[in-house]
Amino acid sequence: VIEIRNLHKAYGSLEVIKGVDITAKRGDVVSLIGSSGSGKSTILRCANLLEDSQDGDIVFKGEPVKWSGQAMSRRPADAKQVLRIRTNLSMVFQQFNLWAHLTILENVMEAPVTVLGRDRGEVETSARQYLDKVGIGDKCDVYPAQLSGGQQQRAAIARALAMEPEALLFDEPTSALDPELEQEVVKVIKDLASEGRTMMIVTHDMKLAHDVSDHVIFLHQGLIEEEGVPETLFGAPKSERLQQFLSSTM
Ligand code: ATP
Ligand code: MG
Repeated sequence: VIEIRNLHKAYGSLEVIKGVDITAKRGDVVSLIGSSGSGKSTILRCANLLEDSQDGDIVFKGEPVKWSGQAMSRRPADAKQVLRIRTNLSMVFQQFNLWAHLTILENVMEAPVTVLGRDRGEVETSARQYLDKVGIGDKCDVYPAQLSGGQQQRAAIARALAMEPEALLFDEPTSALDPELEQEVVKVIKDLASEGRTMMIVTHDMKLAHDVSDHVIFLHQGLIEEEGVPETLFGAPKSERLQQFLSSTM
């Protein structure tokens, strides 16, 4: 579904992604781990074109992003393609980012109605189903501030699902939550994985990465230091940096 090839990204003269390749096939769960500043969020943001990049290909369902301009100042050339990719790779952020002035149901309905132009009645029916699915079907009519962090994050996941995307991108979905609320969200993510959803997950939660991933990528300073199936990556890490990282987080 999504293929990142030889991605390079710099902020000014600071090179933060230095040639990274990641493939998530349909149904794959790929997790990105690594210390703070290693470039995990940047890769997700480049993948769904929230950030420009300087070199490399981003390929969505076999269709490479078209760029215009010189490599160092390239921009996506095709606005329709950008919209198609962005709506098909739904992001879930650490800080939920729900709209405070909209009810939970309205939050979930907003983008399918305004961005995709879908029928309000149909969107409402499916929005209620997605909220049921994440276990907060009874919270449709309240505002985000009236929910716990775990409930807000589950609402944000329902909102991402309501776009009916090809893949979900999670950036530290449980990091802002207390441990007991974290588990509610972990359960939802595990359910989505077992349904065969395609996902890329940036996480500090090594247990989550171990339990849900088909493939785990350990980043260090903008490069892939080691990658593999979770059993091997966590069970028999080869690189010293990964060994150190794991002993500091587990
Ligand atoms: P964390 O675990 O703390 O979220 P991360 O692995 O997600 O870290 P990124 O947020 O991708 O790391 O950042 C990678 C590097 O890019 C860091 O050195 C960061 O300081 C830098 N960076 C990120 N965003 C910007 C920006 N808007 N402008 C300049 N530098 C940035
Ligand atoms: Mg980050």
